[in-house]
Amino acid sequence: MTDPAESPEDVVTARLATDEERAAEGALRPNDLSEFVGQSKVVAQLDLLLRAAKVAERTPDHILLSGPPGLGKTTLAMIVAAESGRTLRMSSGPAISHAGDLAALLSGIQPGEVLFIDEIHRMARSAEEMLYLAMEDFRIDIMVGKGVGATSIQLELPPFTLVGATTRSGALAAPLRDRFGFTGHLEFYAEDELVEVVRRSADLLNLSLADVALVELASRSRGTPRIANRLLRRVRDYIQVHASTDALEATRAALTIYDVDARGLDRLDRAYLETLAKRFSGGPAGLSSLSVSIGEDSETIETVVEPFLIREGLITRSSRGRIITADGWGHLGISPAQHGYEPGETLL
Ligand code: ADP
Repeated sequence: MTDPAESPEDVVTARLATDEERAAEGALRPNDLSEFVGQSKVVAQLDLLLRAAKVAERTPDHILLSGPPGLGKTTLAMIVAAESGRTLRMSSGPAISHAGDLAALLSGIQPGEVLFIDEIHRMARSAEEMLYLAMEDFRIDIMVGKGVGATSIQLELPPFTLVGATTRSGALAAPLRDRFGFTGHLEFYAEDELVEVVRRSADLLNLSLADVALVELASRSRGTPRIANRLLRRVRDYIQVHASTDALEATRAALTIYDVDARGLDRLDRAYLETLAKRFSGGPAGLSSLSVSIGEDSETIETVVEPFLIREGLITRSSRGRIITADGWGHLGISPAQHGYEPGETLL
């Protein structure tokens, strides 16, 4: 079994973007809706929303984008700003640890600006309440002073568009969710869409890859453009270092080096499957027990690992916990009978 302690730092796929990677990603980001591959439903809905706002000369409604990391939420926020010719101001939930942080952010906002708050479900509760008022009435109440002498000052804000992104829309308080005029859920990408993503990125990187290599890369990218682009950069490295001329061979070799298996699972995905299979006899197992056994925080497991394994049909989630499917056992190359496990039995 994979040593869970090894998994966090060097898993190339399931991780969020680092600052350095954000810079590399900047060069590959689509600039308008027509360049944005896939997500046709959300794209059509956003297109209508933006055009209607333009015709009526008003700021677009507040927008909430949800879905696993790396599917294009930040990219869409940037496109919303670009398509409406507005400036984008970026922040994130963890950076807003109390209402004062949000007040500082909102008080600097210019008319019509787009404010992007990534991981909005991680914003402090006190800030959430301030945000309700800002979204609905374009004003905030700021408390000045302490104790009996404390007074509140009202600050009027110019109209703006909030774009919130979240990997856990269920974790957002209902009053906050309700104040978004539009909610779009981003789904994992189909293989042919990811082929388009990597083809476009390869062009931008001046890399000429045969179609078979693009398909191989796309089929092993966890349905996620960020991962497809990340793996593409590693294939480019491999080609440069080995002066490789066979793109398919280079792709397979790079993916092997980075521990991405034939189905696109990385080490963390496999650590999850193996733990569920071996330690919990295939389940049902609870999220917290699994996260302790794997040594990864439960939010990452729930928002990054599980959605993909569920989509692949390798696990299911029931009210009793997570269960490995026949396909999941098959992927590990083991059968419950082989190991003498009874479903539900827990091995310690
Ligand atoms: P998120 O905010 O959901 O984590 P990002 O918007 O940062 O994801 O996207 C990650 C990377 O994937 C970016 O480099 C972006 O260029 C690329 N990407 C995401 N969605 C698409 C898409 N639909 N078409 C092309 N590239 C995409």
